[in-house]
Amino acid sequence: MVKLLKLIKNFILIILLAVINGIIGNFSAICISLFASLTLIKILGFNLNISYNVLFSIIIAFGLLRGILRYFEQYFNHFIAFKILAKIRHIIFLKVRELSFPLLDNKQKGDLISQITSDVETLEVFYAHTLSPILIALFVNGGIVIFLSLYTHYLLAINALFFFLLIGLVIPLIYYYANKKGGIIYREKLSSFSSFYLDAIKGNKDIVYNNLQNHFISRTISKTKTLQKLSKQNIKGLSIVRAISDIIIILSALSTILIGYYLSNNNLIDPLLIIVSVITILSSYGPLISLSQLPSNLNQTYASCNRLFALLEQKPLVKEKHFADNVDFSSLTIKHLQFGYNEELILKDINFKMNFDEIVGIKGPSGSGKSTILKLILDFYPYKGEISFNDKELQKIDSSILKKNVTMFSQNTYLFNDTIANNLRLAKIDASKEEMIDALKKASIYDFVMSLPNGLETIINENSDNISLGEKQRLGLARIFLRKPKLLLLDEPTSNIDALNEALILNTLKNECNMGIIIISHKDSTLNFANRIYDLKDGILYERVN
Ligand code: ADP
Repeated sequence: MVKLLKLIKNFILIILLAVINGIIGNFSAICISLFASLTLIKILGFNLNISYNVLFSIIIAFGLLRGILRYFEQYFNHFIAFKILAKIRHIIFLKVRELSFPLLDNKQKGDLISQITSDVETLEVFYAHTLSPILIALFVNGGIVIFLSLYTHYLLAINALFFFLLIGLVIPLIYYYANKKGGIIYREKLSSFSSFYLDAIKGNKDIVYNNLQNHFISRTISKTKTLQKLSKQNIKGLSIVRAISDIIIILSALSTILIGYYLSNNNLIDPLLIIVSVITILSSYGPLISLSQLPSNLNQTYASCNRLFALLEQKPLVKEKHFADNVDFSSLTIKHLQFGYNEELILKDINFKMNFDEIVGIKGPSGSGKSTILKLILDFYPYKGEISFNDKELQKIDSSILKKNVTMFSQNTYLFNDTIANNLRLAKIDASKEEMIDALKKASIYDFVMSLPNGLETIINENSDNISLGEKQRLGLARIFLRKPKLLLLDEPTSNIDALNEALILNTLKNECNMGIIIISHKDSTLNFANRIYDLKDGILYERVN
Protein backbone atom coordinates (compact mmCIF):
# COMPACT_ATOMS: atom_id res chain seq x y z
CA MET A 1 0.00 0.00 0.00
CA VAL A 2 2.88 2.33 0.85
CA LYS A 3 4.43 1.64 -2.56
CA LEU A 4 1.14 2.39 -4.29
CA LEU A 5 0.69 5.57 -2.25
CA LYS A 6 4.15 6.85 -3.19
CA LEU A 7 3.05 7.06 -6.82
CA ILE A 8 0.23 9.39 -5.88
CA LYS A 9 2.21 12.30 -4.47
CA ASN A 10 1.74 14.60 -7.48
CA PHE A 11 -2.03 14.24 -7.35
CA ILE A 12 -2.77 15.19 -3.73
CA LEU A 13 -4.76 18.29 -4.75
CA ILE A 14 -7.02 16.31 -7.09
CA ILE A 15 -7.57 13.65 -4.42
CA LEU A 16 -8.59 16.41 -2.02
CA LEU A 17 -11.05 17.74 -4.61
CA ALA A 18 -12.53 14.24 -5.07
CA VAL A 19 -12.83 13.78 -1.31
CA ILE A 20 -14.43 17.22 -0.75
CA ASN A 21 -16.94 16.53 -3.55
CA GLY A 22 -17.65 13.12 -2.04
CA ILE A 23 -18.14 14.45 1.49
CA ILE A 24 -20.49 17.29 0.47
CA GLY A 25 -22.27 14.94 -1.97
CA ASN A 26 -22.90 12.32 0.71
CA PHE A 27 -24.12 14.91 3.19
CA SER A 28 -26.47 16.19 0.46
CA ALA A 29 -27.83 12.64 0.05
CA ILE A 30 -28.38 12.36 3.80
CA CYS A 31 -30.11 15.77 3.79
CA ILE A 32 -32.48 14.60 1.03
CA SER A 33 -33.69 11.70 3.23
CA LEU A 34 -33.78 13.93 6.28
CA PHE A 35 -35.89 16.65 4.68
CA ALA A 36 -38.10 14.05 2.99
CA SER A 37 -38.80 12.54 6.40
CA LEU A 38 -39.52 16.01 7.82
CA THR A 39 -42.03 16.52 4.97
CA LEU A 40 -43.63 13.20 5.89
CA ILE A 41 -43.78 14.23 9.54
CA LYS A 42 -45.50 17.49 8.51
CA ILE A 43 -47.99 15.56 6.31
CA LEU A 44 -48.76 13.32 9.31
CA GLY A 45 -49.85 16.45 11.19
CA PHE A 46 -46.86 17.26 13.38
CA ASN A 47 -46.34 20.95 13.88
CA LEU A 48 -43.24 21.92 11.89
CA ASN A 49 -42.27 25.52 11.36
CA ILE A 50 -41.21 25.11 7.70
CA SER A 51 -43.51 25.52 4.68
CA TYR A 52 -43.94 22.74 2.08
CA ASN A 53 -42.44 25.08 -0.55
CA VAL A 54 -39.24 25.46 1.43
CA LEU A 55 -39.07 21.72 2.14
CA PHE A 56 -39.54 20.76 -1.53
CA SER A 57 -37.08 23.43 -2.71
CA ILE A 58 -34.44 22.16 -0.25
CA ILE A 59 -34.95 18.54 -1.40
CA ILE A 60 -34.64 19.51 -5.08
CA ALA A 61 -31.58 21.67 -4.42
CA PHE A 62 -29.82 18.86 -2.51
CA GLY A 63 -30.83 16.39 -5.26
CA LEU A 64 -29.20 18.53 -7.93
CA LEU A 65 -26.13 19.17 -5.78
CA ARG A 66 -25.77 15.43 -5.10
CA GLY A 67 -25.84 14.65 -8.83
CA ILE A 68 -23.29 17.28 -9.79
CA LEU A 69 -20.94 16.50 -6.91
CA ARG A 70 -21.13 12.76 -7.56
CA TYR A 71 -20.12 13.39 -11.16
CA PHE A 72 -17.08 15.43 -10.14
CA GLU A 73 -16.11 12.97 -7.40
CA GLN A 74 -16.03 10.13 -9.93
CA TYR A 75 -14.37 12.35 -12.55
CA PHE A 76 -11.50 13.34 -10.24
CA ASN A 77 -11.04 9.78 -8.93
CA HIS A 78 -10.81 8.31 -12.42
CA PHE A 79 -8.65 11.18 -13.65
CA ILE A 80 -6.07 10.30 -10.97
CA ALA A 81 -6.45 6.56 -11.54
CA PHE A 82 -5.85 6.67 -15.28
CA LYS A 83 -3.02 9.21 -15.04
CA ILE A 84 -1.27 6.96 -12.51
CA LEU A 85 -1.91 3.82 -14.58
CA ALA A 86 -0.31 5.58 -17.56
CA LYS A 87 2.67 6.45 -15.34
CA ILE A 88 2.93 2.86 -14.08
CA ARG A 89 2.82 1.51 -17.64
CA HIS A 90 5.60 3.90 -18.54
CA ILE A 91 7.70 2.68 -15.58
CA ILE A 92 7.07 -0.95 -16.56
CA PHE A 93 8.10 -0.36 -20.17
CA LEU A 94 11.29 1.34 -18.98
CA LYS A 95 11.93 -1.66 -16.73
CA VAL A 96 11.29 -4.15 -19.52
CA ARG A 97 13.76 -2.21 -21.65
CA GLU A 98 16.28 -2.19 -18.82
CA LEU A 99 15.89 -5.94 -18.20
CA SER A 100 15.71 -6.31 -21.96
CA PHE A 101 17.08 -9.44 -23.55
CA PRO A 102 17.52 -11.87 -20.62
CA LEU A 103 13.96 -11.11 -19.46
CA LEU A 104 12.40 -11.71 -22.86
CA ASP A 105 14.67 -14.71 -23.43
CA ASN A 106 13.49 -16.45 -20.28
CA LYS A 107 10.12 -15.12 -19.20
CA GLN A 108 6.90 -16.44 -20.62
CA LYS A 109 5.67 -13.73 -22.96
CA GLY A 110 2.00 -14.30 -22.06
CA ASP A 111 2.81 -13.72 -18.41
CA LEU A 112 4.59 -10.48 -19.25
CA ILE A 113 1.71 -9.33 -21.45
CA SER A 114 -0.76 -10.11 -18.67
CA GLN A 115 1.35 -8.03 -16.25
CA ILE A 116 1.54 -5.07 -18.61
CA THR A 117 -2.18 -5.17 -19.43
CA SER A 118 -4.52 -6.74 -16.89
CA ASP A 119 -2.37 -6.42 -13.75
CA VAL A 120 -1.99 -2.69 -14.34
CA GLU A 121 -5.74 -2.37 -14.98
CA THR A 122 -6.59 -3.85 -11.59
CA LEU A 123 -4.67 -1.07 -9.85
CA GLU A 124 -7.48 1.22 -11.00
CA VAL A 125 -9.52 -0.20 -8.11
CA PHE A 126 -7.01 1.14 -5.63
CA TYR A 127 -6.68 4.61 -7.07
CA ALA A 128 -10.31 5.23 -8.10
CA HIS A 129 -12.29 3.18 -5.59
CA THR A 130 -10.24 2.80 -2.41
CA LEU A 131 -8.39 5.86 -1.32
CA SER A 132 -11.02 8.58 -1.54
CA PRO A 133 -13.93 6.31 -0.42
CA ILE A 134 -11.99 5.58 2.80
CA LEU A 135 -11.46 9.31 3.45
CA ILE A 136 -15.06 10.12 2.49
CA ALA A 137 -16.41 7.45 4.85
CA LEU A 138 -14.17 8.74 7.62
CA PHE A 139 -15.43 12.31 7.31
CA VAL A 140 -19.11 11.59 6.52
CA ASN A 141 -19.71 8.92 9.15
CA GLY A 142 -17.48 10.70 11.65
CA GLY A 143 -19.58 13.83 10.99
CA ILE A 144 -22.80 11.89 11.59
CA VAL A 145 -21.53 10.58 14.95
CA ILE A 146 -20.61 14.15 16.00
CA PHE A 147 -24.00 15.44 14.77
CA LEU A 148 -25.87 12.78 16.78
CA SER A 149 -23.89 13.46 19.95
CA LEU A 150 -24.45 17.23 19.63
CA TYR A 151 -28.13 17.29 18.65
CA THR A 152 -29.58 14.03 20.03
CA HIS A 153 -27.93 12.04 22.81
CA TYR A 154 -24.45 10.58 23.24
CA LEU A 155 -25.93 7.06 23.59
CA LEU A 156 -27.36 7.33 20.05
CA ALA A 157 -23.95 8.56 18.82
CA ILE A 158 -22.12 5.62 20.46
CA ASN A 159 -24.68 3.21 19.00
CA ALA A 160 -24.09 4.67 15.49
CA LEU A 161 -20.30 4.56 15.93
CA PHE A 162 -20.47 0.89 16.89
CA PHE A 163 -22.41 -0.10 13.75
CA PHE A 164 -20.33 2.17 11.49
CA LEU A 165 -17.12 0.51 12.70
CA LEU A 166 -18.68 -2.91 12.24
CA ILE A 167 -19.60 -2.32 8.60
CA GLY A 168 -16.73 -0.03 7.58
CA LEU A 169 -13.84 -1.69 9.40
CA VAL A 170 -14.48 -5.07 11.04
CA ILE A 171 -16.32 -6.75 8.13
CA PRO A 172 -13.92 -5.50 5.41
CA LEU A 173 -10.91 -6.63 7.45
CA ILE A 174 -12.36 -10.10 8.11
CA TYR A 175 -13.35 -10.42 4.45
CA TYR A 176 -9.94 -9.20 3.30
CA TYR A 177 -7.99 -11.74 5.36
CA ALA A 178 -10.42 -14.58 4.66
CA ASN A 179 -10.20 -13.97 0.95
CA LYS A 180 -6.55 -12.93 0.59
CA LYS A 181 -5.24 -16.24 -0.74
CA GLY A 182 -8.17 -16.54 -3.16
CA GLY A 183 -7.31 -13.21 -4.79
CA ILE A 184 -3.66 -14.14 -5.24
CA ILE A 185 -4.49 -17.58 -6.65
CA TYR A 186 -7.04 -16.06 -9.03
CA ARG A 187 -4.50 -13.57 -10.47
CA GLU A 188 -1.88 -16.34 -10.85
CA LYS A 189 -4.33 -18.67 -12.60
CA LEU A 190 -5.56 -15.86 -14.85
CA SER A 191 -2.03 -15.00 -15.88
CA SER A 192 -1.11 -18.64 -16.49
CA PHE A 193 -4.27 -18.99 -18.57
CA SER A 194 -3.20 -15.97 -20.72
CA SER A 195 0.21 -17.56 -21.28
CA PHE A 196 -1.33 -20.90 -22.18
CA TYR A 197 -3.85 -19.32 -24.55
CA LEU A 198 -1.27 -17.14 -26.29
CA ASP A 199 0.95 -20.18 -26.71
CA ALA A 200 -1.94 -22.18 -28.19
CA ILE A 201 -2.70 -19.41 -30.70
CA LYS A 202 0.94 -19.15 -31.73
CA GLY A 203 1.29 -22.91 -32.04
CA ASN A 204 -2.09 -23.44 -33.71
CA LYS A 205 -0.58 -25.05 -36.82
CA ASP A 206 1.37 -27.61 -34.81
CA ILE A 207 -1.74 -28.35 -32.77
CA VAL A 208 -3.66 -29.12 -35.97
CA TYR A 209 -0.78 -31.10 -37.57
CA ASN A 210 -0.58 -33.28 -34.48
CA ASN A 211 -4.35 -33.63 -34.23
CA LEU A 212 -4.29 -32.14 -30.74
CA GLN A 213 -7.33 -29.86 -31.11
CA ASN A 214 -9.50 -31.83 -28.68
CA HIS A 215 -6.67 -32.09 -26.18
CA PHE A 216 -6.18 -28.30 -26.25
CA ILE A 217 -9.92 -27.63 -26.09
CA SER A 218 -10.28 -29.81 -23.00
CA ARG A 219 -7.26 -28.12 -21.37
CA THR A 220 -8.83 -24.72 -22.14
CA ILE A 221 -12.14 -25.84 -20.65
CA SER A 222 -10.47 -27.21 -17.54
CA LYS A 223 -8.49 -24.00 -17.02
CA THR A 224 -11.61 -21.88 -17.59
CA LYS A 225 -13.51 -24.02 -15.08
CA THR A 226 -10.81 -23.44 -12.46
CA LEU A 227 -11.07 -19.69 -13.05
CA GLN A 228 -14.86 -19.88 -12.90
CA LYS A 229 -14.68 -21.79 -9.61
CA LEU A 230 -12.38 -19.21 -8.06
CA SER A 231 -14.59 -16.42 -9.37
CA LYS A 232 -17.66 -18.09 -7.90
CA GLN A 233 -15.96 -18.36 -4.51
CA ASN A 234 -15.24 -14.66 -4.67
CA ILE A 235 -18.83 -13.79 -5.62
CA LYS A 236 -20.10 -16.09 -2.86
CA GLY A 237 -17.95 -14.25 -0.34
CA LEU A 238 -19.20 -10.92 -1.64
CA SER A 239 -22.85 -12.03 -1.41
CA ILE A 240 -22.35 -13.18 2.19
CA VAL A 241 -20.77 -9.81 3.04
CA ARG A 242 -23.70 -7.99 1.41
CA ALA A 243 -26.25 -10.07 3.32
CA ILE A 244 -24.46 -9.62 6.64
CA SER A 245 -24.12 -5.86 5.99
CA ASP A 246 -27.87 -5.60 5.30
CA ILE A 247 -28.71 -7.45 8.51
CA ILE A 248 -26.38 -5.18 10.48
CA ILE A 249 -27.99 -2.07 8.96
CA ILE A 250 -31.45 -3.27 10.01
CA LEU A 251 -30.13 -4.10 13.49
CA SER A 252 -28.65 -0.61 13.74
CA ALA A 253 -32.06 0.94 12.90
CA LEU A 254 -33.76 -1.30 15.48
CA SER A 255 -31.26 -0.49 18.20
CA THR A 256 -31.58 3.26 17.41
CA ILE A 257 -35.37 2.99 17.80
CA LEU A 258 -35.02 1.10 21.10
CA ILE A 259 -32.43 3.49 22.54
CA GLY A 260 -34.46 6.49 21.25
CA TYR A 261 -37.64 5.06 22.83
CA TYR A 262 -35.84 4.59 26.15
CA LEU A 263 -34.41 8.13 26.02
CA SER A 264 -37.71 9.80 25.07
CA ASN A 265 -39.57 7.79 27.76
CA ASN A 266 -37.14 9.23 30.27
CA ASN A 267 -37.62 12.71 28.76
CA LEU A 268 -34.01 12.84 27.67
CA ILE A 269 -34.82 13.59 23.99
CA ASP A 270 -37.76 14.84 21.92
CA PRO A 271 -39.62 11.86 20.26
CA LEU A 272 -39.14 13.59 16.90
CA LEU A 273 -35.39 13.05 17.27
CA ILE A 274 -35.92 9.27 17.19
CA ILE A 275 -37.14 9.60 13.60
CA VAL A 276 -34.35 12.04 12.72
CA SER A 277 -31.73 9.66 14.18
CA VAL A 278 -33.07 6.57 12.40
CA ILE A 279 -33.28 8.37 9.04
CA THR A 280 -29.81 9.90 9.44
CA ILE A 281 -28.21 6.58 10.33
CA LEU A 282 -30.01 4.61 7.63
CA SER A 283 -29.09 7.12 4.93
CA SER A 284 -25.42 7.39 5.93
CA TYR A 285 -24.34 3.82 5.14
CA GLY A 286 -23.57 4.61 1.46
CA PRO A 287 -19.84 5.32 1.88
CA LEU A 288 -19.42 2.39 4.32
CA ILE A 289 -21.14 -0.15 2.08
CA SER A 290 -18.67 0.60 -0.69
CA LEU A 291 -15.87 0.00 1.84
CA SER A 292 -17.29 -3.33 2.99
CA GLN A 293 -17.25 -4.65 -0.58
CA LEU A 294 -13.82 -3.30 -1.37
CA PRO A 295 -11.71 -6.27 -0.22
CA SER A 296 -13.05 -8.51 -2.98
CA ASN A 297 -11.34 -6.29 -5.55
CA LEU A 298 -8.55 -5.15 -3.28
CA ASN A 299 -7.26 -8.70 -2.81
CA GLN A 300 -6.79 -9.01 -6.54
CA THR A 301 -5.32 -5.53 -6.73
CA TYR A 302 -2.68 -6.40 -4.16
CA ALA A 303 -1.93 -9.69 -5.91
CA SER A 304 -1.42 -7.79 -9.18
CA CYS A 305 0.56 -5.16 -7.37
CA ASN A 306 2.91 -7.77 -5.87
CA ARG A 307 3.53 -9.26 -9.30
CA LEU A 308 4.20 -5.82 -10.80
CA PHE A 309 6.55 -4.73 -8.03
CA ALA A 310 8.39 -8.07 -8.28
CA LEU A 311 9.02 -7.19 -11.93
CA LEU A 312 9.95 -3.58 -11.14
CA GLU A 313 12.36 -4.66 -8.41
CA GLN A 314 14.24 -7.14 -10.62
CA LYS A 315 17.84 -6.14 -11.13
CA PRO A 316 19.06 -6.21 -14.74
CA LEU A 317 21.72 -8.81 -15.48
CA VAL A 318 23.41 -6.32 -17.78
CA LYS A 319 23.04 -2.57 -17.40
CA GLU A 320 22.66 -0.08 -20.26
CA LYS A 321 25.99 1.67 -20.64
CA HIS A 322 26.39 5.34 -21.39
CA PHE A 323 29.78 6.53 -22.59
CA ALA A 324 30.38 9.58 -24.71
CA ASP A 325 33.53 8.49 -26.56
CA ASN A 326 33.19 6.87 -29.95
CA VAL A 327 34.75 3.52 -30.83
CA ASP A 328 36.22 2.32 -34.08
CA PHE A 329 34.66 -0.96 -35.05
CA SER A 330 37.27 -2.65 -37.20
CA SER A 331 38.26 -5.70 -35.15
CA LEU A 332 36.92 -8.05 -32.48
CA THR A 333 39.00 -9.90 -29.89
CA ILE A 334 37.69 -12.54 -27.50
CA LYS A 335 40.00 -13.85 -24.76
CA HIS A 336 39.34 -16.64 -22.27
CA LEU A 337 35.58 -16.17 -22.49
CA GLN A 338 33.59 -18.27 -20.01
CA PHE A 339 29.83 -18.43 -19.64
CA GLY A 340 26.94 -20.57 -18.38
CA TYR A 341 23.22 -19.75 -18.01
CA ASN A 342 23.46 -21.48 -14.63
CA GLU A 343 26.35 -23.10 -12.75
CA GLU A 344 27.22 -25.38 -15.66
CA LEU A 345 29.65 -23.69 -18.07
CA ILE A 346 28.58 -23.84 -21.73
CA LEU A 347 31.53 -21.81 -22.98
CA LYS A 348 34.75 -22.79 -21.19
CA ASP A 349 37.58 -20.99 -22.92
CA ILE A 350 36.77 -19.11 -26.11
CA ASN A 351 39.65 -17.32 -27.83
CA PHE A 352 39.20 -15.65 -31.14
CA LYS A 353 40.23 -12.61 -33.18
CA MET A 354 38.93 -11.19 -36.44
CA ASN A 355 39.15 -8.04 -38.54
CA PHE A 356 36.00 -6.58 -40.05
CA ASP A 357 36.99 -7.38 -43.61
CA GLU A 358 36.76 -11.10 -42.81
CA ILE A 359 33.98 -13.67 -42.79
CA VAL A 360 34.41 -16.16 -39.99
CA GLY A 361 32.34 -19.34 -39.73
CA ILE A 362 31.47 -21.28 -36.55
CA LYS A 363 30.29 -24.85 -36.64
CA GLY A 364 29.29 -27.08 -33.79
CA PRO A 365 26.61 -29.50 -32.62
CA SER A 366 23.21 -28.14 -31.71
CA GLY A 367 23.19 -26.83 -28.15
CA SER A 368 26.99 -26.43 -28.03
CA GLY A 369 26.71 -22.66 -27.40
CA LYS A 370 27.20 -21.08 -30.85
CA SER A 371 24.25 -18.66 -30.53
CA THR A 372 25.31 -17.92 -26.97
CA ILE A 373 28.67 -16.57 -28.23
CA LEU A 374 26.76 -14.14 -30.47
CA LYS A 375 24.48 -13.06 -27.59
CA LEU A 376 27.56 -12.33 -25.45
CA ILE A 377 29.11 -10.23 -28.25
CA LEU A 378 25.87 -8.20 -28.17
CA ASP A 379 26.28 -7.76 -24.38
CA PHE A 380 23.04 -9.58 -23.48
CA TYR A 381 24.50 -11.53 -20.52
CA PRO A 382 27.36 -10.99 -18.05
CA TYR A 383 30.42 -13.16 -18.74
CA LYS A 384 33.93 -13.90 -17.55
CA GLY A 385 36.92 -13.13 -19.76
CA GLU A 386 37.31 -10.41 -22.34
CA ILE A 387 35.39 -9.24 -25.39
CA SER A 388 36.75 -6.11 -27.03
CA PHE A 389 36.35 -4.06 -30.18
CA ASN A 390 39.60 -2.41 -31.31
CA ASP A 391 41.06 -3.16 -27.86
CA LYS A 392 38.18 -1.39 -26.12
CA GLU A 393 36.46 -3.64 -23.58
CA LEU A 394 32.77 -4.25 -24.36
CA GLN A 395 31.91 -3.10 -20.84
CA LYS A 396 33.31 0.37 -21.66
CA ILE A 397 31.35 0.80 -24.89
CA ASP A 398 28.11 2.78 -25.04
CA SER A 399 25.17 0.37 -25.51
CA SER A 400 23.51 2.33 -28.29
CA ILE A 401 26.81 2.74 -30.19
CA LEU A 402 27.31 -1.03 -29.87
CA LYS A 403 23.81 -1.78 -31.22
CA LYS A 404 24.32 0.67 -34.08
CA ASN A 405 27.50 -1.08 -35.20
CA VAL A 406 26.85 -4.71 -34.38
CA THR A 407 23.68 -6.55 -35.27
CA MET A 408 22.39 -10.09 -35.35
CA PHE A 409 20.34 -11.82 -37.97
CA SER A 410 18.80 -15.13 -37.03
CA GLN A 411 16.56 -17.70 -38.64
CA ASN A 412 13.59 -16.24 -36.76
CA THR A 413 13.17 -12.87 -38.45
CA TYR A 414 10.21 -11.09 -36.92
CA LEU A 415 8.03 -9.11 -39.28
CA PHE A 416 5.55 -6.67 -37.77
CA ASN A 417 1.89 -6.53 -38.76
CA ASP A 418 2.63 -3.56 -41.04
CA THR A 419 3.60 -2.80 -44.64
CA ILE A 420 6.75 -4.28 -46.18
CA ALA A 421 8.15 -0.74 -46.52
CA ASN A 422 7.64 -0.02 -42.81
CA ASN A 423 9.15 -3.37 -41.91
CA LEU A 424 12.23 -2.42 -43.91
CA ARG A 425 12.36 1.04 -42.32
CA LEU A 426 13.04 -0.64 -38.97
CA ALA A 427 16.61 -0.99 -40.22
CA LYS A 428 16.84 2.59 -41.49
CA ILE A 429 14.07 4.92 -40.46
CA ASP A 430 14.59 7.39 -43.32
CA ALA A 431 15.31 4.84 -46.06
CA SER A 432 14.27 6.11 -49.51
CA LYS A 433 12.29 3.97 -51.94
CA GLU A 434 15.42 3.52 -54.08
CA GLU A 435 17.43 2.30 -51.09
CA MET A 436 14.68 -0.17 -50.21
CA ILE A 437 14.50 -1.48 -53.76
CA ASP A 438 18.28 -1.86 -53.83
CA ALA A 439 18.20 -3.81 -50.52
CA LEU A 440 15.36 -6.03 -51.77
CA LYS A 441 17.32 -6.83 -54.93
CA LYS A 442 20.42 -7.74 -52.92
CA ALA A 443 18.31 -10.06 -50.75
CA SER A 444 16.85 -11.69 -53.94
CA ILE A 445 13.31 -10.78 -52.94
CA TYR A 446 12.60 -7.77 -55.18
CA ASP A 447 10.70 -9.71 -57.87
CA PHE A 448 8.47 -11.34 -55.26
CA VAL A 449 7.62 -7.99 -53.58
CA MET A 450 6.84 -6.39 -56.94
CA SER A 451 4.55 -9.32 -57.86
CA LEU A 452 2.34 -8.49 -54.85
CA PRO A 453 -0.72 -6.32 -55.66
CA ASN A 454 0.44 -3.48 -53.40
CA GLY A 455 4.20 -3.95 -53.79
CA LEU A 456 6.11 -2.30 -50.95
CA GLU A 457 2.82 -1.21 -49.38
CA THR A 458 1.60 -4.81 -48.95
CA ILE A 459 0.70 -5.51 -45.36
CA ILE A 460 2.35 -8.48 -43.67
CA ASN A 461 -0.25 -10.34 -41.60
CA GLU A 462 0.17 -10.93 -37.92
CA ASN A 463 2.42 -14.02 -37.57
CA SER A 464 3.50 -13.38 -41.20
CA ASP A 465 1.01 -15.99 -42.41
CA ASN A 466 0.77 -14.52 -45.90
CA ILE A 467 4.42 -15.09 -46.84
CA SER A 468 6.66 -18.14 -46.77
CA LEU A 469 9.47 -18.70 -44.27
CA GLY A 470 12.09 -18.22 -47.00
CA GLU A 471 10.50 -14.92 -48.12
CA LYS A 472 10.37 -13.77 -44.52
CA GLN A 473 14.03 -14.57 -44.04
CA ARG A 474 14.98 -12.73 -47.23
CA LEU A 475 13.02 -9.64 -46.11
CA GLY A 476 15.00 -9.83 -42.88
CA LEU A 477 18.21 -9.91 -44.91
CA ALA A 478 17.04 -6.88 -46.90
CA ARG A 479 16.96 -5.05 -43.56
CA ILE A 480 20.64 -5.93 -43.08
CA PHE A 481 21.52 -4.55 -46.50
CA LEU A 482 19.82 -1.28 -45.50
CA ARG A 483 21.37 -1.20 -42.08
CA LYS A 484 25.01 -1.85 -43.09
CA PRO A 485 26.49 -2.63 -39.64
CA LYS A 486 30.25 -2.93 -39.06
CA LEU A 487 29.87 -6.45 -37.68
CA LEU A 488 27.08 -8.78 -38.71
CA LEU A 489 26.29 -11.85 -36.64
CA LEU A 490 24.48 -14.45 -38.72
CA ASP A 491 22.77 -17.28 -36.84
CA GLU A 492 21.75 -19.97 -39.35
CA PRO A 493 20.84 -17.18 -41.79
CA THR A 494 19.91 -19.25 -44.79
CA SER A 495 18.23 -22.25 -43.14
CA ASN A 496 14.97 -21.62 -45.00
CA ILE A 497 16.48 -20.53 -48.33
CA ASP A 498 17.20 -22.78 -51.31
CA ALA A 499 20.79 -23.31 -52.46
CA LEU A 500 20.50 -20.93 -55.44
CA ASN A 501 19.23 -17.98 -53.43
CA GLU A 502 21.64 -18.79 -50.61
CA ALA A 503 24.62 -18.50 -52.95
CA LEU A 504 23.23 -15.27 -54.42
CA ILE A 505 22.69 -13.65 -51.03
CA LEU A 506 25.96 -14.73 -49.48
CA ASN A 507 27.88 -13.55 -52.55
CA THR A 508 26.17 -10.17 -52.32
CA LEU A 509 27.00 -9.95 -48.62
CA LYS A 510 30.62 -10.84 -49.37
CA ASN A 511 31.13 -8.57 -52.37
CA GLU A 512 29.01 -5.53 -51.67
CA CYS A 513 28.98 -5.11 -47.96
CA ASN A 514 32.04 -3.79 -46.34
CA MET A 515 31.57 -5.47 -42.95
CA GLY A 516 32.84 -8.23 -40.72
CA ILE A 517 30.62 -11.31 -40.59
CA ILE A 518 30.45 -14.14 -38.08
CA ILE A 519 28.30 -16.87 -39.53
CA ILE A 520 26.93 -19.83 -37.61
CA SER A 521 25.66 -22.71 -39.63
CA HIS A 522 25.45 -26.45 -39.72
CA LYS A 523 25.58 -26.35 -43.56
CA ASP A 524 28.99 -26.65 -45.19
CA SER A 525 27.60 -24.83 -48.25
CA THR A 526 27.04 -21.77 -46.06
CA LEU A 527 30.31 -22.01 -44.19
CA ASN A 528 32.27 -22.27 -47.43
CA PHE A 529 31.84 -18.51 -47.79
CA ALA A 530 33.90 -17.94 -44.67
CA ASN A 531 37.60 -17.03 -44.81
CA ARG A 532 38.19 -19.04 -41.67
CA ILE A 533 36.15 -21.72 -39.92
CA TYR A 534 36.08 -22.57 -36.21
CA ASP A 535 34.65 -25.68 -34.60
CA LEU A 536 33.00 -25.35 -31.20
CA LYS A 537 33.53 -28.49 -29.13
CA ASP A 538 32.93 -28.87 -25.39
CA GLY A 539 32.98 -25.13 -24.83
CA ILE A 540 36.25 -24.52 -26.69
CA LEU A 541 36.72 -22.98 -30.13
CA TYR A 542 39.21 -24.71 -32.47
CA GLU A 543 40.37 -23.06 -35.70
CA ARG A 544 40.30 -25.41 -38.67
CA VAL A 545 43.59 -25.81 -40.42
CA ASN A 546 43.22 -26.34 -44.16
P1 ADP B 1 23.51 -23.55 -30.29
O1 ADP B 1 23.38 -22.20 -30.88
O2 ADP B 1 24.91 -24.10 -30.42
O3 ADP B 1 22.51 -24.54 -30.79
P2 ADP B 1 22.76 -22.22 -27.85
O4 ADP B 1 23.87 -21.24 -27.67
O5 ADP B 1 21.48 -21.74 -28.36
O6 ADP B 1 23.27 -23.45 -28.72
O7 ADP B 1 22.49 -22.93 -26.44
C1 ADP B 1 23.51 -23.56 -25.71
C2 ADP B 1 22.88 -24.21 -24.47
O8 ADP B 1 22.35 -23.22 -23.61
C3 ADP B 1 21.74 -25.15 -24.81
O9 ADP B 1 21.82 -26.27 -23.97
C4 ADP B 1 20.50 -24.34 -24.48
O10 ADP B 1 19.47 -25.17 -24.05
C5 ADP B 1 20.97 -23.45 -23.34
N1 ADP B 1 20.28 -22.14 -23.34
C6 ADP B 1 20.12 -21.32 -24.38
N2 ADP B 1 19.48 -20.18 -24.02
C7 ADP B 1 19.21 -20.31 -22.70
C8 ADP B 1 18.57 -19.47 -21.71
N3 ADP B 1 18.08 -18.28 -22.02
N4 ADP B 1 18.50 -19.94 -20.46
C9 ADP B 1 19.01 -21.13 -20.11
N5 ADP B 1 19.63 -21.98 -20.98
C10 ADP B 1 19.74 -21.57 -22.26
